[in-house]
Amino acid sequence: MKLCVCMAVLFPVLLVVGATSSILEMTPPISGLALADLRDTFEEVHNGHRHEAIDLLAPRGTPVHAVVSGTIRKLFVSKPGGNTIYQFDEIGLYCYYYAHLDGYAKGLREGMRVERGNVIGFVGSTGNADARTPHLHFAIFELGSEKLWWKGKAVNPYPSLVDALKRTK
Ligand SMILES: [Zn+2]
Repeated sequence: MKLCVCMAVLFPVLLVVGATSSILEMTPPISGLALADLRDTFEEVHNGHRHEAIDLLAPRGTPVHAVVSGTIRKLFVSKPGGNTIYQFDEIGLYCYYYAHLDGYAKGLREGMRVERGNVIGFVGSTGNADARTPHLHFAIFELGSEKLWWKGKAVNPYPSLVDALKRTK
């Protein structure tokens, strides 16, 4: 019993400080972003739902880069998200979600391996985004043990995006 409690406390700590977290190795999904462009809207309510993502404004057609190396798990067209990409990291711990894309990079397909920095799509306003404000809706989900692309716990990407920007300066 005591061991269980101990592991329950230790495991999340290991995830946060361990080198296993791909979040710590993220690079920005869009080139040329400035810290001033980032706003923490994770907790905001958008269309009746907690946003649980960060919106990165950029002109339509701006390349979107994979923030970590891993696998394209799902290309999905949804009513709110428009053209979306669900990308798993190398060990399937986190899922990175890119939405409102104008389109996918040529040849992108499910199950494909991508390296951090590869262009995977282009900024747009598909789904419920305002056509006058193309942007990348970017989210991170911590996957459960089932590793289902549509099921995960939202993690606020804001601090890691700030760190990623600082590292690439
Ligand atoms: Zn959004």
